[in-house]
Amino acid sequence: MQILDGKALSQKITQKVKEETQELKERHGIIPGLAVILVGDDPASHTYVKMKESACEKVGFYSIVHKMPASINQEEIEETIRMMNNNPNIHGILVQLPLPQHIDTTRILELIDPSKDVDGFHPYNFGRLMEGLDTFAPCTPLGVMEMLAAYDIDPKGMDVCVVGASNIVGKPMAALLLNANATVDICHIYTKDLQSHTKKADMVVVGVGKPNLITADMVKDGAVVVDIGINKLPDGKLVGDVDFENVSKKASYITPVPGGVGPMTIAMLLKNTLKAAKQRIKA
Ligand code: NAD
Repeated sequence: MQILDGKALSQKITQKVKEETQELKERHGIIPGLAVILVGDDPASHTYVKMKESACEKVGFYSIVHKMPASINQEEIEETIRMMNNNPNIHGILVQLPLPQHIDTTRILELIDPSKDVDGFHPYNFGRLMEGLDTFAPCTPLGVMEMLAAYDIDPKGMDVCVVGASNIVGKPMAALLLNANATVDICHIYTKDLQSHTKKADMVVVGVGKPNLITADMVKDGAVVVDIGINKLPDGKLVGDVDFENVSKKASYITPVPGGVGPMTIAMLLKNTLKAAKQRIKA
């Protein structure tokens, strides 16, 4: 069994982004800029945004965080997005989810200029992703694809079971794998017999948010196991959705939590923001 080390790989990618950022600055006078909109005081969201801010700082990006109280209204968030859409120093816009219940998240995400949609949540980019066209793919599934490529794991022809079907994780993950010529099975909360799907898969990719959802008896020998889940146990320990101790005994490759997909997600955000900034180079 080999560990898919997202921490080490993300550091390599981050270093490369830093070098390319320096080059972009020197050659074209462009400093990649990321705007983050953070609404409310959900502690996990604040932690994620801090991590994103510090990652931007490390690679030399310009970044701003618009912090807004949970009581903010729809129009005020929309106004901030319009401002960021029109700001030439901002190349990427990210709205930290979840937004408070009274906010229409779909409307907010659809207002982001698709050319600045570095999270890849705009339906325009999602449509392009489904068509296999160049686009901003959502950072977490994109990070999984980069990790597989770095370890020479080619999904082509593999039977892959994606567990979890959200718009930000499972669905784009399935699309990217399908585009990479895998045969993809998508499972979710209403799947009748989860084990019958996972058991026959050459690769299981799980992003649900339930500790120990995937146990050793659900995985075939030699399978590649990618764990996107992040769960905080009552004692504060972070775990994924996979029973790592036992599943790792059967898997050929497996991601740890923490140190697997998580750091790759932030590295992909940097990569997408750099890509958005490069699109501003005048021909
Ligand atoms: P979500 O709640 O939006 O979606 C969960 C999905 O899991 C749904 O499609 C649901 O149908 C499915 N599901 C729920 N219970 C199930 C079950 N028993 N069997 C099969 N499917 C089931 O969550 P999300 O935003 O997609 O996040 C999923 C997990 O991924 C969470 O743990 C989250 O913290 C983690 N996550 C990690 C990263 C990262 O950077 N590593 C990024 C985003 C999300």
